[in-house]
Amino acid sequence: MPTSRPARGPKRPTYKPEPRVRRGAVRLPPEVASHIRAGHPFVFRDALGPRPLSAAAGEAIELLDGDGQIVGRGLYDGAGTVAVRVVTRDPRQAIGRDLFTARVHAAVARRAAVLRDDPARPTNAYRLIHAEGDGVPALTVDRYGDFLVAQIFSSAIEPHLPDLYDALIAAVAPRAIYAQARQRPQSGEGPRAPATLQRGELAPVEIEVLEDGLRFLVDVTAPLGTGLFLDLRRGRKVIGEHARDRRVLNLFSYTGAFSVYAARGGAREVVAVDLAQRAHARARRNLEINGLDQVPYEAVTGDALKVLARMAERGRKFDLAIVDPPSFAQRQGAAKSGVFTVQRDYPELVEAVLRVCDRGALVAFVSNTMKVQAAELDRAIGLGAFRAGREVRVIDRVGLPPDFPLPAGYLDGNYLKFFLTLVD
Ligand code: SAH
Repeated sequence: MPTSRPARGPKRPTYKPEPRVRRGAVRLPPEVASHIRAGHPFVFRDALGPRPLSAAAGEAIELLDGDGQIVGRGLYDGAGTVAVRVVTRDPRQAIGRDLFTARVHAAVARRAAVLRDDPARPTNAYRLIHAEGDGVPALTVDRYGDFLVAQIFSSAIEPHLPDLYDALIAAVAPRAIYAQARQRPQSGEGPRAPATLQRGELAPVEIEVLEDGLRFLVDVTAPLGTGLFLDLRRGRKVIGEHARDRRVLNLFSYTGAFSVYAARGGAREVVAVDLAQRAHARARRNLEINGLDQVPYEAVTGDALKVLARMAERGRKFDLAIVDPPSFAQRQGAAKSGVFTVQRDYPELVEAVLRVCDRGALVAFVSNTMKVQAAELDRAIGLGAFRAGREVRVIDRVGLPPDFPLPAGYLDGNYLKFFLTLVD
């Protein structure tokens, strides 16, 4: 027998699990333990069944398998569907300041390794920390030039925020860190408080950032959106690449990020549709500061479906359309809840947009919520096309850019879907 191989250690004594585990630890069903080992970052509350797990929000919890072996350690979350947010699968690592500091530095190094922009077209707005994807549960941190915007999705991470902010200051020396509280669900709420300054100096209401050499105005103190959704960067590039000589329709245009890319890409005209007048004002300025205000441009304020119906009546046609409804869009005059849902409303939207598309047009369909998986969006597109009596073919799909990494084993974390279709 070859002796160079390390001999197997003594067989572990078979451990008979006690029905109750000590405080601060929980035993996982085999199926859940296997998902966590593969990289899934959540232990869902219902996966624990009737097992009692009483802890304070943010308390470290040891996750054990049926044999009592450590599967990982995570933070207890008292609210919502996730009971424990995994921080580490390494039994030697303890949750605390040292680990989170290391996570921040690793996240920053990861961006340096994967974000290779063209020096002639710089980008200084991107995600620095992508929550579970960087081993920092429930916290995202976006860089907008010299400012950082943190979004806090669970009270579980709150006790660790001071350590994380310290590490961010040390790693990237921002002028300020702002935080948006996102602990509660977005639907059915009143107006939100603005982001709060955590470190550094007050930011001006408007700052200019660069993406692929284009300028965008953002507000890092805004309660929700800053004015530029960083996760859609690859979709914007696709639109820019296909815009030449096309009549472009940008639905749910917000601050006009797609419009700006389309205008630079050589669009013949750009028509932007949004309910919010304020968004249109920012969009126009975004075009101006890029010197793109010569491109024929029209801003239409109104409900997307109503505007589409009017355009169809008048026989208006486009060759490139972008459909990017918010996950909780308010439908003007909607019968029931008034809230947009993919299953019910997306096919209707697809049908309506196809009525203003010429043969050979390209239409980009976007969905940015975890609640809608790619297959569902795909089906909604197909169904809407059927109702419009048209055929669409998916010719490109892009998703999250490399500054939004996901651990292997966490496919459902891939919330962003962007399908480019070709219309017959
Ligand atoms: N596509 C944008 C992001 C869209 S955000 C981008 O790339 O930056 C969603 C936008 O939809 C918001 O600006 C909101 O005002 C708008 N909106 C919500 N409901 C709408 C409706 N029914 N019709 C038109 N616009 C709507």
